[in-house]
Amino acid sequence: MIRYSRYLMPTTKETPSDAEIVSHRLMLRAGLLRKVASGIYNYLPAGLRVLRKVERILREEMDRAGALEVLMPAVVPSELWKESGRWDAYGRELLRFKDRADREFCLGPTHEEVVTDLVRREVRSYRQLPLSLYQIQDKFRDEIRPRFGLMRGREFFMKDAYSFDANDEAAAESYRKMYEAYCRIFRRMGLDFRAVEADTGNIGGSSSHEFMVIADSGEDAIVSCGTCAYGANVEKAECNPAAAEPTGKETSVGKTGSPRKVSTPGKRTVEEVSGFLGIDPATLIKTLLFETSVGDVAILVSGTHEVNEIKVKNHLGADFVRLAGEERVREMTGAPSGFAGPVGLPVRVIADHSVRAIASGATGGNEKDVHLVDVVPGRDFTPEGYADLRMVREGDPCPRCGGALRFSRGIEVGHVFRLGTKYSEAMRAVYLDEGGKERVAVLGCYGIGVGRTAAAAIEQNHDDDGIVWPISIAPFEVAVIPVNVKQADVMAAAERVAADLDTHGVEIFLDDREERPGIKFKDADLTGIPVRITLGEKNVAAGFGEIRDRKTGETLRIPLTDLAKEAIALVERKKAECAP
Ligand code: ATP
Ligand code: MG
Repeated sequence: MIRYSRYLMPTTKETPSDAEIVSHRLMLRAGLLRKVASGIYNYLPAGLRVLRKVERILREEMDRAGALEVLMPAVVPSELWKESGRWDAYGRELLRFKDRADREFCLGPTHEEVVTDLVRREVRSYRQLPLSLYQIQDKFRDEIRPRFGLMRGREFFMKDAYSFDANDEAAAESYRKMYEAYCRIFRRMGLDFRAVEADTGNIGGSSSHEFMVIADSGEDAIVSCGTCAYGANVEKAECNPAAAEPTGKETSVGKTGSPRKVSTPGKRTVEEVSGFLGIDPATLIKTLLFETSVGDVAILVSGTHEVNEIKVKNHLGADFVRLAGEERVREMTGAPSGFAGPVGLPVRVIADHSVRAIASGATGGNEKDVHLVDVVPGRDFTPEGYADLRMVREGDPCPRCGGALRFSRGIEVGHVFRLGTKYSEAMRAVYLDEGGKERVAVLGCYGIGVGRTAAAAIEQNHDDDGIVWPISIAPFEVAVIPVNVKQADVMAAAERVAADLDTHGVEIFLDDREERPGIKFKDADLTGIPVRITLGEKNVAAGFGEIRDRKTGETLRIPLTDLAKEAIALVERKKAECAP
């Protein structure tokens, strides 16, 4: 049992101005956290209790999934990072330094290299696979803009796990197990989350899911289906092919046997051109020019849609794509930007499916102040192919089931990733198969930010008075508040119920401070302890105490003899809300 009078949980009214989001403010105000330097914190006792609870759930579920806990060093020699090629590729988020003998090291921002080195030394045979290892450990990333408290720190705890398998099929199974473990983890924390398909970036690989806690303050835009379980990062969200079927949309200008030039002085944007010509913007064939690692490319999309650069990059298999600047546009089209079009364009042309829906449209004439109308895809220009290259929009049909897609914001708390053989090839992590042949192991990696998850839980669970912790990660389960500690019978009743609950394994926070009742109640709300037992003078004299549910505010007056029993029942109900 913890007594507030002997505890360090310094609650405050004020917060520094750099605490921009509610979880950061509440963690400071509730006395869980104190800043030491930008993105670097002291965790105070109650804050650490929360993190330890998160970690405990992580450990239990990792163990259940068959992963083995290890602990790798925070300080990593540069040689390993040079072997994987990331010493040069990683950039300034990697904090590098030298030891007294002038050897280079970094603080590990993630541990693929270290774990691959460990496994290549210890695993020789297919019989030792599959092998999954995990750790919960301090990471350091020198983030450009550390902010939002534990949400984006520089030093932070992460649970990182790595799977090693003999082949792709087995790796898919390891991935599935981790995915399931992640679902259990976030359900046990009582969080509203979505697993969304994420872009795999330059690493490629077959799959990657981000686990997003739904919250308006989230940095990521995510798309989810209102009907089925489909979810994706906006960058990755697919368009339903059915949405791209031809609708026979035509420019109202009238269709002739060939495109007609029209003068559009100074009209560049979709709004300007469609307004000026009096046509449906959906019939405008927007032409965007990109410089890419595989050469110049023109991407076509209907005027009411936006091009998704990540889809373009993935479609081309390019290392980079960037929108061409004014000068390059002039070189490619012979016209200032705003007048590009696919007819007669001497550049590779690829069209989004939305262009197929245009029977006859308008587009740029590759000439200053000129557009073309009555342009028929397939007749007047032929793209090298049609592909899904646009951003999805709210209300678009779901690619899986056709239901309506909706947008929301999310906080990325976890990430599961099929790495394939990138690290095992670069670092020669090989094993001998059944026939004695050397093969490279197939990897997966799986991260969860401990502090970020706790912060996300607050973003999702708070009210005007403070934090409303899900009970599984609350610093304490029940707060016991003797309204006036100087009254012997009140204090005795409080001690009694606290001791009773304590022996039943309930985590008790006894506010035995000589403070005004108003302050105690405010602090109890602020710190978000799920259940509060209040012992006031009149109630105790009449043989009663109160039980209050932090989340609903519901308060019950209960005979002192039943107080512990009723509190336990409420705790149990709250625990059931955090069932896996
Ligand atoms: P982000 O895009 O938010 O920077 P990331 O893609 O760099 O995240 P990963 O490398 O996949 O993140 O790390 C795994 C997990 O570690 C993340 O899902 C997140 O919970 C946590 N994490 C990453 N960076 C930070 C940070 N700066 N502070 C706190 N937690 C972090
Ligand atoms: Mg990052």
